[in-house]
Amino acid sequence: MQTCLITGGAGFIGSNLIKRLLDDNYRVICLDNLLTGDEKNIEEFRNRDNFQFIKQDVIKDFELKDKIDYIFHFASPASPVDYQNYPIETLLVNSVGTKNCLDLAVQNNAVVMFASTSEVYGDPKVHPQTETYWGNVNPNGVRSCYDEAKRFGESIVTVYQRKFKLITKIIRIFNTYGPKMQKDDGRVISNFVNQAIRNKAITVNGRGEQTRSFCFVDDLVDGIMKIMFSKKTDNQVINLGNPDEYTIFDIARKIIKLTNSKSKIVFNPLPADDPQRRKPNISKVKGLVGWNPKISLQEGLLKTIEYFKSIK
Ligand code: NAD
Ligand code: UDP
Repeated sequence: MQTCLITGGAGFIGSNLIKRLLDDNYRVICLDNLLTGDEKNIEEFRNRDNFQFIKQDVIKDFELKDKIDYIFHFASPASPVDYQNYPIETLLVNSVGTKNCLDLAVQNNAVVMFASTSEVYGDPKVHPQTETYWGNVNPNGVRSCYDEAKRFGESIVTVYQRKFKLITKIIRIFNTYGPKMQKDDGRVISNFVNQAIRNKAITVNGRGEQTRSFCFVDDLVDGIMKIMFSKKTDNQVINLGNPDEYTIFDIARKIIKLTNSKSKIVFNPLPADDPQRRKPNISKVKGLVGWNPKISLQEGLLKTIEYFKSIK
């Protein structure tokens, strides 16, 4: 049986990924300091023989007894509210934390996947975004603690791949949503759904004309599995997201409709450096492993609404 280490496994994407890995018969070690994650997300795995949780900060030194075959480095605050609350932690987990994971990979001859982000494209001037685009990032703006940390992460992963002949995979994840998102992470889907099911005002930033493309977490996990366990994606940088593009105002209206909410829409100022448009070009992942997201926004939102109602 092969062993996977997941940093950030008690978070939203990590915990959804653990379920899939356990179901596919991998041994899973989850390393998380619970900064933005929650032990409740991994409670359901506690009694499974192949699962182990270690409360650990990946920035600090750590040693593992077991031989590791695959490392998924997913630890990092991820929502704009979280990473602006924890800017230093964000910089360090994607730099020092990534280096620690890479050193462990060298010792174990393990394959490493680094969870990068569409934020490396900043406020993009190329639309949709392809992997060959270098981005338009403000190096010292309010988002830079995240954007530049992920860009550093991509750089150190690539340096280790060249210097130590490690097998690496960099995935640039675009906005993802679904069950096990934190209720209060300030992201647009979690905010709007929780506001709508309580009939509270829906807080649209700016005029709501900015766009995003939202991927349901089950589709994302499917893409992560295909990329990690295929030789065709070795040492590649790959966009992962759903290319269906919506304005934030459309999202507000859709969520009000799907929840039968009495909420009204209010308009707040647009935060600094908020990207105007975002949509992945996913030809590369389609060509390499045949991945294509299958879950429509409506289906994914209904599942997410059901989840947030269940934990209300
Ligand atoms: P999340 O906040 O739910 O999960 C991150 C997890 O990392 C949390 O459990 C947190 O406690 C843990 N963590 C943070 N710092 C740590 C440290 N120093 N040591 C150990 N654990 C630490 O976020 P998420 O949405 O699940 O994001 C997971 C990864 O995917 C992140 O790297 C994020 O940058 C990336 N990503 C997510 C999205 C998205 O839309 N959700 C988009 C792009 C990239
Ligand atoms: N947004 C909004 N209202 C909210 C939260 C977010 O209008 O309550 C907007 C935000 O300004 C951005 C988009 O929704 O334009 C997506 O924000 P999110 O924080 O989910 O992720 P981002 O893609 O900006 O990292």
